[in-house]
Amino acid sequence: MYARFLEIEITGTCPYRCKHCYGSFPKPGELSFEKLCEIFNDARDHFDAVIVSGGEPFLHPRIAGIVRRAAREYVVFITTSGFGLTDEILDTIRNRCILVFGLDGIGSTHDEYRGYPGAFDRLMRSLDLTRDLPKEIIVTLWKGVLPQIDNIVELAEQYNAIVHFNGLIPVGNAKKHPEIMPDPQELEMLYPKLIALKKQGGAVITDLHKVTAKDGLQGIELFCKGRFNITPSGDVRPCEFHYAVLGNIFDRSLRTILDQARKTPALQSREQGFRDHIRLDLKNPFEYHTTICHNLFRSPKQ
Ligand code: SF4
Repeated sequence: MYARFLEIEITGTCPYRCKHCYGSFPKPGELSFEKLCEIFNDARDHFDAVIVSGGEPFLHPRIAGIVRRAAREYVVFITTSGFGLTDEILDTIRNRCILVFGLDGIGSTHDEYRGYPGAFDRLMRSLDLTRDLPKEIIVTLWKGVLPQIDNIVELAEQYNAIVHFNGLIPVGNAKKHPEIMPDPQELEMLYPKLIALKKQGGAVITDLHKVTAKDGLQGIELFCKGRFNITPSGDVRPCEFHYAVLGNIFDRSLRTILDQARKTPALQSREQGFRDHIRLDLKNPFEYHTTICHNLFRSPKQ
């Protein structure tokens, strides 16, 4: 059994300009509190967990009410840069959600990557505020962060956080910044290190997956099984890294869109971990998202 996640980009507003940003934020659009309540009602029975994201979710004027409402029936995660998180907001959402902070390097490495001087210090303040709360740190494996893995693990332990290292998916802003993509050889060298850290049972959880012959029989253990995404303008997509639009919640109910999408061969194949689509001649065995998944959902919007 796996948890089914609905990731909702509640606002397109964001002060940062991250080089890997999958959604090319900032962009227009914001989902109202009322529309979000409709989504939470409609999503019942389809999802176990809601990920409140953006843009920067703490810049949505109704963030506290949204979290309190969602927490009545879902496990709630908030993905944030830490920008806009205050003591006051924290008091109203404390114990109702798990905070997930994005970290892309130590000090100026993080600031330069995020295009915002002082971003690292702001993030450290947020980690300090939430020292006693359950939280995660997500690190996207871009070229410049690879030499800092040990420092990041140390930092996560210091703030009582678990840390995920995720492969960089070349979509959105990352497509415009090919220089941030690690070489397959660099990932090959990093892979055993991350597996070893994970096995130690400490702070490290890793989703970096390498396609192997075994996947052809069993399928890839995809983190996105049962996952869907909604953008600030209401488009429903297979996940936040995907260009394919399955429908819009301002035209049809979320329930109808999901029911129809689940009948498509592409979605069915994802639920089986792309078992029939595994190829061992991929240029980069760590990069199945665009070479396998995106090819399955070919769309004129690509
Ligand atoms: S495999 Fe496809 S659906 Fe799953 S996270 Fe990657 S791009 Fe999204």
